Amino acid sequence: MCLFCNVIEKKTPATVVYEDEHAIAFRDIRPMAPTHVLVVPRKHISGIRDLSADDVTTIGQVFLVARHVAKLEGLEAHGYRLVVNDGDAAGQTVHHIHVHVLGGRNFAWPPG
Ligand code: 5GP
Ligand code: ZN
Repeated sequence: MCLFCNVIEKKTPATVVYEDEHAIAFRDIRPMAPTHVLVVPRKHISGIRDLSADDVTTIGQVFLVARHVAKLEGLEAHGYRLVVNDGDAAGQTVHHIHVHVLGGRNFAWPPG
């Protein structure tokens, strides 16, 4: 079964920072920044490539939760980065769509 579906169902432990009826936000097990939170919709969608028009509201809610997490984590003053990896070239490893909320340091552009 999908790792993030197991986190949603509380079968896999995670440090949850926020959750509501649309999405759950929990700390990444291998943080790449002082704040690194994953925002995951409760609906299993494998990735950006699998989005359909039915998912428009779900994805909008995920971004609202990402903004809320950034606020909770005190990232708004200095700024933060949202990342969505899709497919192998981007380094997607978990095939349940998620937004990385990264903050607490400066980020280079272009990304690596
Ligand atoms: P992706 O590479 O698919 O964009 O992101 C997947 C993320 O999930 C990675 O940053 C990885 O560290 C994180 N991750 C993998 N397994 C677990 C886990 O069991 N718990 C948590 N909290 N994060 C995980
Ligand atoms: Zn899933």
